[in-house]
Amino acid sequence: MKNYHNELEKYADLAVNVGINLKPNEGLIIGGNVSGLPLAREIMKKAYAAGAKHVEFMLGDDEMALARYENAKDYVFENYPEWKVNMLVAMYEDNYHHLFISAPNPELLKDIPGDTVAKDQKTASMAMAPAMKYRMTGRTKWSIVAVPSPDWALSVYPELDVEAAIDALWQKIFDATRVSENDPVEAWKIHDMNLKKYKNYLNEKQFDKIVLKAPGTDLEIFLADEHYWMGGSKESLGGDDFVANIPTEEVFTTPHRLKVNGTLKATKPLSLNGKLVDDFGFTFKDGKVVDFYAGKGKEVLERLMDNDDGAKYLGEIALVQDDSPISNTGILFNNTLFDENASVHLALGRAYAYAMQNGSDLTQEELEAKGANFSLIHVDFMVGGPEMEITAFEKDGSMVKLFEKGNWVF
Ligand code: ZN
Ligand code: ZN
Repeated sequence: MKNYHNELEKYADLAVNVGINLKPNEGLIIGGNVSGLPLAREIMKKAYAAGAKHVEFMLGDDEMALARYENAKDYVFENYPEWKVNMLVAMYEDNYHHLFISAPNPELLKDIPGDTVAKDQKTASMAMAPAMKYRMTGRTKWSIVAVPSPDWALSVYPELDVEAAIDALWQKIFDATRVSENDPVEAWKIHDMNLKKYKNYLNEKQFDKIVLKAPGTDLEIFLADEHYWMGGSKESLGGDDFVANIPTEEVFTTPHRLKVNGTLKATKPLSLNGKLVDDFGFTFKDGKVVDFYAGKGKEVLERLMDNDDGAKYLGEIALVQDDSPISNTGILFNNTLFDENASVHLALGRAYAYAMQNGSDLTQEELEAKGANFSLIHVDFMVGGPEMEITAFEKDGSMVKLFEKGNWVF
């Protein structure tokens, strides 16, 4: 394997100083598995150099996660250890911020029954809600960066041996995250300004509806009342800009859950709980999925939409132009963090409260009354590509072209 010291140092700098934007006397939690260790060590240095009061590394392990699924009794998946929630809440209260190093194995759970995984995740997300609230309201700054795991690298480059696959994936990750550029931190500042430009334009306009057209797609999406477009860095309650996903290329907002009509064809496969869904699409009527197809993994989609009522409605629309560092890598990463940022996408399930005006101050009922969807799931799927045309309509019916041949027109 190559020596990545220089790139890892730049990547760590990006994670700590742009992703989290860690300030003196703040704490940092780093989560990751063994594939994340070399980057975590560099992050440790950057975090203390930035003035961290304490840095805690929390190790997870895929083999152990699998051992749990294969051996645990049923009741294990119905109970979440309360102390784990309390610990995280205590750390967030104590001004700790949370950096996740993702090194996924896309096929890890392929032999585990889908019901078990779904039940386990439902239990975990319900139990974790009090901690999640800190991140969703911006009280806790958080960021996700990714590094290759052997299985992930091989899923992208099945023709290579594992070392060569990891090298090849690293190169694509460095390109996609702008770490390959001379000064990634500066490159991100410029990129962030561009995203803010689109975001501010869309927020000023408060468009009534957006229409997506591409082969297999002809969809009319009304936006939620008082929707808010997000993009690039977010501002924490403490007033710091942080970037929750590195990379991010999207500007996104909240569709009106009951006002989506037409057909939609996904342009990239979707990896869901270690299972692949491919060649799929949906028909929407009054916001609800009334028909769908999938060349591969149809039952996975079916189970996803059976989670709860909201799982059959949209919770996000995100605009990403086709010409971006991620899309220009020319590969499918088999990883939503990257692939969703290569393409216009939509999400089934929960809307983000912060993608509504003053959303964090509203109750669930108030959000729903404005059209924001509620669900325990939020699953993105990709619909963009070089043929995507996007038009926006103002309330008086006047029309503005946003995307032509996959890219922003301005
Ligand atoms: Zn998104
Ligand atoms: Zn999303």
